[in-house]
Amino acid sequence: MKIIMLGAPGAGKGTQAKMLAEKYGIPHVSTGDIFRANIKEQTELGMEAKKYMDQGLLVPDELTVKILLDRVAKDDCKNGYVLDGFPRTIPQAEVLDKAVAELGESIDYAINVDVKDENIIRRMSGRRACLKCGATYHIEHIPPKQEGICDKCGSELVLRDDDKPETVEKRLKVYHEQTQPLIDFYSKKGILKEVDGSQDMKDVFAAIVAILG
Ligand code: ADP
Ligand code: ADP
Ligand code: ZN
Repeated sequence: MKIIMLGAPGAGKGTQAKMLAEKYGIPHVSTGDIFRANIKEQTELGMEAKKYMDQGLLVPDELTVKILLDRVAKDDCKNGYVLDGFPRTIPQAEVLDKAVAELGESIDYAINVDVKDENIIRRMSGRRACLKCGATYHIEHIPPKQEGICDKCGSELVLRDDDKPETVEKRLKVYHEQTQPLIDFYSKKGILKEVDGSQDMKDVFAAIVAILG
């Protein structure tokens, strides 16, 4: 099964994608996580991506598409994957479509996790991330067992540089301009499904599972 998670930054795509990956036994592929891992390792790709991420801008398509195609070409993606944070532009979606079609396959569903902008700002300021294993928490809604420490790997949790309110506003603007058109793109392909992302995390998950069957 090949699934795309759509939605504004902070809508809960990553949270849901991780649960879906576990339930269906397919990899969770997050371009943001790949970029952050590269920044941590101070690779050339990481340093280039950081310039854009810190400003709340999208990393250029050329760079992003390459890392995504390399990732989904790996063996563990043979039976499908959950894409989280990709595609984010129409050209990215077109490249993905073409690559999947070349294998004689297609994307099964694009799930739009819908959350209003006001709600997003609140979610992002409370988000805490583990840069080691990629786990995400929320100080009020989804707190870790021990404050500031990752349940899964014991590392320290941080507020991402790009989750500061000034950058979040910029990212939301970029989302509306460049990513939101994908809703129409996948709707025309007949694979778009909408879920109300403002519900409790478990209810959002149940709604998605009901769609996927
Ligand atoms: P969120 O879902 O919270 O917005 P992500 O981890 O998906 O965060 O992305 C963080 C940043 O990484 C984005 O703001 C952008 O700069 C960059 N990024 C991630 N995925 C893409 C992509 N598909 N295209 C361009 N930039 C991307
Ligand atoms: P995205 O990947 O779309 O940027 P995340 O999955 O990282 O979003 O979620 C953003 C923040 O909101 C995180 O702090 C996360 O713990 C929290 N969160 C996710 N889903 C919900 C939910 N249904 N209700 C409340 N908070 C949520
Ligand atoms: Zn961790």
